[in-house]
Amino acid sequence: MSEDARLREAICRLARSLFQRGLTGGASGNISARLPNGDILATPTGSSFGDLDPARLSRIDSQGRLRDGDNPTKEMPLHSAFYATRQPTGAVVHLHSTHSVALSMLPDVDPDNVLPPLTPYAVMRLGKVKLLPVYLPGDPAMGEAVRGLAGRRSAVLLANHGPVVAGKTLDAAVHAMEELEETAKLALLTRGLSPRLLSDAQVADIVERFGVEWE
Ligand code: ZN
Repeated sequence: MSEDARLREAICRLARSLFQRGLTGGASGNISARLPNGDILATPTGSSFGDLDPARLSRIDSQGRLRDGDNPTKEMPLHSAFYATRQPTGAVVHLHSTHSVALSMLPDVDPDNVLPPLTPYAVMRLGKVKLLPVYLPGDPAMGEAVRGLAGRRSAVLLANHGPVVAGKTLDAAVHAMEELEETAKLALLTRGLSPRLLSDAQVADIVERFGVEWE
């Protein structure tokens, strides 16, 4: 099986899994992944994660031209911003996942580090997650905001909208996205219950030991 065929099959299989677990509904959410020649495969605009056709995924060249398949997601500028600023980015995942969106709306979260330090895995897989402002759908300013981070963050949360996560591989990006959503869920479940957070020293230890980007 060619790398193109393998990646198309993997995008559709993982998207269906995310859809079936209720992590993004309707025609929300988008996934992109980079082929060895630099072309990007992306989920088409208006498509549902529950029902993607590998043959209709958008294939975009390094100049941003559609080579084949349906028109790509309108949120392509968000994806392109990660590929342009973070090397090596092999895949980008964006969802409208409920708990992350709920957390993004709360008044007293830290916009520079929106997830509280609840578990070592969230620190390891996500680093600091930046909360970005509210944008209208399709606003190119979303992509500009990600470019403004200059590749320092692998994960951002768009306020009142949803998370975007980049990874070296498609599997890594999906796993990190799942970690983000589960951590947001834990943050909401424990809110007001005075949970014991990881200490600054414990976070620093994880950052050092696992080489986490933490700026
Ligand atoms: Zn979206």
